[in-house]
This record gives sequence, C-alpha cells and structure tokens, in this order.
Amino acid sequence: MNGVFHAGAGVVIGGLALGGSATPADLAVCAVAGTAPDWDVILLPVHRPLYSDYHRTVTHGFIGLLMGGVLAAAVLSLFGWEFRHAVYLWLSASLGHTVSDLFNRSGVALFSPFSWDRIRMPLVSWGDVPLTVGAVALAIWMVMLPDTARLASLAGLAAYAAYLLRRRRNPVLSNFVSRWWFQKVNGPGGATGGGGPALSKSTENHGASG
Ligand SMILES: [Zn+2]
Repeated sequence: MNGVFHAGAGVVIGGLALGGSATPADLAVCAVAGTAPDWDVILLPVHRPLYSDYHRTVTHGFIGLLMGGVLAAAVLSLFGWEFRHAVYLWLSASLGHTVSDLFNRSGVALFSPFSWDRIRMPLVSWGDVPLTVGAVALAIWMVMLPDTARLASLAGLAAYAAYLLRRRRNPVLSNFVSRWWFQKVNGPGGATGGGGPALSKSTENHGASG
C-alpha cells in the first residue's frame, strides 16, 4: 500500500493500542512507524533494481520489524520516551504496515533474510482509493475525537476486513495511481533489472492488467 494509507493506518493502530490515552505525540510516532518499513525507498534513486528486488523483504519481515522497533525506541528514548512504550507503539504500527502489504500483488517475504518466499493474498492495488481515503479519515477522527478512538478504530478494522472480503470476489490490483508508481519503480519500459531466482517476484501492478 501507499505511504498515505500506511501513515493513516499507523494512527488508527495507535488509537486502537492506547485508546483515549493516546497523546498527539503517540499518534505522530505511530504515523511515522506506519511508513517505516517502506523507508528503503531511498534505494530507488540510487539503485532501482536493488530496490525492486529487495522491497518488501528485510524491512517488512518479522526480524526487520523487530530490529526497527528496538532501534527506533532506542532513538526515541534519547528524547525522553519510555523505551517499552516506544517499542510497543512502533512495533504495532509497523506490523500493521506489513499485514496490509500482504494484500498487494507482490506480497511480503515475512521470514527474510532466512526465506525470500513472499506470502501474498492479492486483493487490492497499491493506490487503492477507498482504503487510502478511509485510513486518512479515521486518522483525523483519532486526533479530533480521542475518547472514541478505540471504538472507531475497531469499526475501521471491521470495515477493512469487510472490504477485503468483498474484494476476494473481484480483486482490483491496479488503478491509475498504482500504474504511476509501477512506472516509477520499474522504469518506463517496465524492466525490473533482473534479480536472482530467490528474489524474483510478480511485481505489484505488473502485467497487462496492471
Ligand atoms: Zn510496505
């Protein structure tokens, strides 16, 4: 999924995790943590094939999430955050990121670097508009009405599950936003730059239908 969705979903997860006690700073950290697994995007302008092959592997797998959570909490503790609280928030939001990426076409190598097999249930596109708008709307709700945060986030998760179940009948793996991103990642010709067989994947939005 795209960064806007992930940031919004991070805030919603923060609202679920902390309920009415979530501070704006907590929610801001969750928004940042929600996007964290995708920070390997810095590779894109440097070495596109490397990004294309490794994206949604080490930064999205369980080991990478755990390492990222501990590292982020260590940094946050330098700024006065309680370490365990920061780990809890960071891991919750970034795990939510990985889970939502399972529903995209390229899937996630959950056990990388020990296994490069991608687990996937392709149901939605990277730029799914209803999901993105829904996540942002709920995130605003979390900030404006913190007392109802937990209830609203549970309702949001139920709606998300219902949306995915509906998509099972008619998966939508591409839209105009996704096609724009696919071109950016893979180049105008769609070349992925190769990669070893262990890393080969059906890139998100690849192919005539995407
Ligand atoms: Zn991701």
